[in-house]
Amino acid sequence: MNAYVQRVFDGLKARNPQEKEFLQAATEVLEALSPVFDKHPEYEKIGLLERFVEPDRIIMFRVPWVDDQGQVQVNRGFRVQFNNAIGPYKGGLRLHPSVNLSVIKFLGFEQVLKNSLTGLPIGGGKGGSDFDPKGKSDNEVMRFCQSFMTELFKYVGKDEDVPAGDIGVGAREIGYLYGQYKRITGLYEGVLTGKGLTWGGSLARKEATGFGLCYMTNAMLRKHGLSFEGKRVVVSGSGNVAIYAAQKATELGGLVVAMSDSNGYVVDEKGIDLAVVKQIKEVERGRIKEYAARVPGASYTEGFRGIWTVKCDIALPCATQNELDLDGAKALVASKCFAVCEGANMPTTLEATQYLQQNGVYFVPGKAANAGGVAVSALEMSQNSLRLSWTFEEVDTRLHGIMENIFKAIDSAAKEYGQEDNYVTGANIAGFLKVANAMVAHGCV
Ligand code: NDP
Repeated sequence: MNAYVQRVFDGLKARNPQEKEFLQAATEVLEALSPVFDKHPEYEKIGLLERFVEPDRIIMFRVPWVDDQGQVQVNRGFRVQFNNAIGPYKGGLRLHPSVNLSVIKFLGFEQVLKNSLTGLPIGGGKGGSDFDPKGKSDNEVMRFCQSFMTELFKYVGKDEDVPAGDIGVGAREIGYLYGQYKRITGLYEGVLTGKGLTWGGSLARKEATGFGLCYMTNAMLRKHGLSFEGKRVVVSGSGNVAIYAAQKATELGGLVVAMSDSNGYVVDEKGIDLAVVKQIKEVERGRIKEYAARVPGASYTEGFRGIWTVKCDIALPCATQNELDLDGAKALVASKCFAVCEGANMPTTLEATQYLQQNGVYFVPGKAANAGGVAVSALEMSQNSLRLSWTFEEVDTRLHGIMENIFKAIDSAAKEYGQEDNYVTGANIAGFLKVANAMVAHGCV
């Protein structure tokens, strides 16, 4: 590793010893960026990397709310505004009991590079809370969201910071958050994305991350003379990203044979029936286990990590961080899987990524492969500013073009730095250079 990069990394580890997810993301990014600093020694004089790894600001707050029994509950809220060198902060809100500062910092850090890769003018941020929406009534979720926004509204705005959905935050939560922002500020502005279609949302936003993942996967496969046609595909998760990744993979000729949730996974050799998954997950907010009870021939197995033992050609991890570990990677290689493209953020551990790459599996990291969601969020911001709504086809065509362009950018950055087909290196370098140039232009701020 470049000596300057190593020094900054050592400092980062010493200052944040308990932030394991953030340090994991930083390890991947800084290792990949090392050759950039060999080429640009001038960055050291202006402390560019020290500034790049430190968020602009971190906001942490109490979120009190009253449950259906009249009891006061208290959760912790976060917003990490990581870097706004190329545009307003942009990045989702996650509601999950595993949320802590390390998780939000890793997501915000990745978001800076991802947003840069889209080619659109958006900086990076992320937020959320350790609130668990599972098992809560609509009214409880509403009271939580109202309390969360009562604090958050001070720090966000259409040209300042524009949050969106993530794990546990879909159309329902965005609606409650938006309603509260409007009530407090009196503003009807594009402060959130992922909004409902009748109140400022964009067509194709719901589908964007999953569709974009498959457009990216397809572009990468094409380069290697491959395609989805007739291939077995495993998609982990069964949330927003997973459902629309499975849909597009199927439309492109793949056979999606397995999906999961945090409890376990289902296998359907005939190809997963997405109408059933959507009914269970989007309408009933149920468990994936119910799929096996409803579809003859399908089976269910407890434990979500087992999904990687299902034989496949293409794996699309779309659930959560570190869901694909070394054992999973070994199982994939053993079953001759040739492509892993990340729909989730950092779903593959560092060891698993290395193992896949060393065994010739084409690997596209989440910051490039799942950028379609935030890209269409930025298109939602554009439509809000224009006071216009584009058609589904128009947004989908732009999304397709953006994903093809991201692939070109990461492919040529990897080549330029002598690491052809290493899309981890390509994505980190291509994303970083644009932000770095803007930071240089803005002076030491
Ligand atoms: P959802 O909440 O809609 O779905 C998440 C899925 O992952 C569910 O099936 C869930 O299962 C599973 N999951 C969540 N936590 C865990 C866990 N700890 N262990 C195992 N499985 C888990 O979220 P999204 O689909 O929106 O997000 C999925 C991933 O994609 C995340 O990493 C997110 O950051 C990333 N992403 C999302 C974007 C978007 O536009 N939504 C954009 C870019 C990235 P269960 O229901 O049992 O909890």
